[in-house]
Amino acid sequence: MIKLVVFDMDDTLYNEIDYIISGFKRIAKFLNTKYDINDSFPLFIEAFHNGNNHRIFNYVLDKLEIDYNDDTINLLVKKYRDHYPDIQLSQQTINILRTAKQKYKTAIISDGYYNAQKLKIKALKLKDYFDQIYLTDELGQEYWKPSKYYFEKCQENFRSLSEEIVYIGDNWKKDFYPGNILGWKTIGLLSINQIYKNTEVNPEYKPQIVVNDLKDIFNYL
Ligand SMILES: [Mg+2]
Repeated sequence: MIKLVVFDMDDTLYNEIDYIISGFKRIAKFLNTKYDINDSFPLFIEAFHNGNNHRIFNYVLDKLEIDYNDDTINLLVKKYRDHYPDIQLSQQTINILRTAKQKYKTAIISDGYYNAQKLKIKALKLKDYFDQIYLTDELGQEYWKPSKYYFEKCQENFRSLSEEIVYIGDNWKKDFYPGNILGWKTIGLLSINQIYKNTEVNPEYKPQIVVNDLKDIFNYL
């Protein structure tokens, strides 16, 4: 019987694209003011659609013909990660989390830069719905999933048996391996974004159950 429901955060509880757009808007505003530009935001979207995911800021600065160096980029990256994001939970997700909280113990195990993740949690008001929130980056990147460190810690803190825990995530490359090897139930949320990136992983990385919609998790708890 499931007693503890553990969620991933990004692209499981809200759409990460909303966070990315929010960050671009903030950086665009900064550049507009600093360099007296009418509106740089469309360039961020252009860079994103071009698949320039790791060099978005370079692309935008190149297009704007602004001189920059590594420090400029690092400053923009820091501003992006430190921005208070304009993101919300959908009403459906709020209902799901309320139901889950009434019936089970609840937790989050989330990767990502510590400060950025903390600000997302605040903006999404997630503390209302969870007994524990584990941010793996608090100890450093080597503790990010698929490390099982925080999964073991979570199980220990809740004094739960493996078969009483379920982990729900969206990323086939890292979300399910720790739960699978610890004997937890694992549920993968399949959305448009995941259809392409989740095809080739070893069996121990695959979720035991796949759902198309978060509300369907209740069929398996
Ligand atoms: Mg995720």
